[in-house]
Amino acid sequence: MKYLLVLLLVSCTLPQPLTSPEVSEVTLNTTETPTATAVDPEPAPLPLPVLSDKLSAWCARTDTEFNRYQWGKSRCEEFNWNHVRSSAQGHPIPWVVFGTEENLEKKNVTLIMCGVHGDEITPMKFCYDILYDLKDFHWDFSERVVIVAPLVSPDSFFTAKPSRTNSRGVDVNRNFPTKDWNKDALRLWSQKYGKDKRRYPGPKASSEAETVFQVNLIKRYKPSKIISVHSPLMMLDYDGPALKHDHSHSAKDLLLTMSEKAKGYKVSNYPHFPGSLGNWAGNELGIPTYTLELPNSDPHQSDRYWKQFREAIHHAIEHKIGP
Ligand SMILES: [Zn+2]
Repeated sequence: MKYLLVLLLVSCTLPQPLTSPEVSEVTLNTTETPTATAVDPEPAPLPLPVLSDKLSAWCARTDTEFNRYQWGKSRCEEFNWNHVRSSAQGHPIPWVVFGTEENLEKKNVTLIMCGVHGDEITPMKFCYDILYDLKDFHWDFSERVVIVAPLVSPDSFFTAKPSRTNSRGVDVNRNFPTKDWNKDALRLWSQKYGKDKRRYPGPKASSEAETVFQVNLIKRYKPSKIISVHSPLMMLDYDGPALKHDHSHSAKDLLLTMSEKAKGYKVSNYPHFPGSLGNWAGNELGIPTYTLELPNSDPHQSDRYWKQFREAIHHAIEHKIGP
């Protein structure tokens, strides 16, 4: 049994950007700006958004996977997807924004990402359940923004045999430009992990489209918190400003309340790795980052997991971190 350990305070200095100015490249793919959901109790049905050919194909592929895992209709075409970057195999890596992008710095901004590892099947459906919830229920998006990227690594999911690594054989969650990447990522992979192919950190930091996508999303929206959904380690892990220095108890309260609302889900302090999201966004950028590891990757358990964690996710979206 592991216990929650107090994290060390680490510097919050931004690392030098390793890539071209990607952020400015980020544009909306549709002519409409994503808007808040209607507050009218019985809103008239909205026309479906116009999707690009690439996004239509991506939605069709998503439907195929939903059929395969018996998840029902994906409703993929109902969302105002944004798309800039695609995977090595050409699949879009899209995201949806609920709320408006004005005055982001004053708002409670939550970034939720799933499908970083394609062989973890349940998280993908989990992000869709979040999408349906945000679209169908009467959330107030005047003071909050929620960004959802349901499938960060499409190549590893859209395949007969889903894999942890992307189509270039890289573990996307070891490829972030952390300060220790150059010194430690490949060395530890070779010396400590026996060159385990499932954990190859890539030829260099930020070498992968899926990593650059996440880095840009974080730079663009500057979320006040990040929730990254994985499976099957059955725990909730926190990376970010040291909890003992969190005088408002805000980040820590959220961690403990999320666990409570999921019937005492185990809180664990999973070790850091060079190039992981928690290390880069949590420790180096100082953004409270919560990794929710669902109990397993069995697609038939998806509904059960959504029921188990729905309240925790609601609370996480509503909870304001910081002043
Ligand atoms: Zn994972």
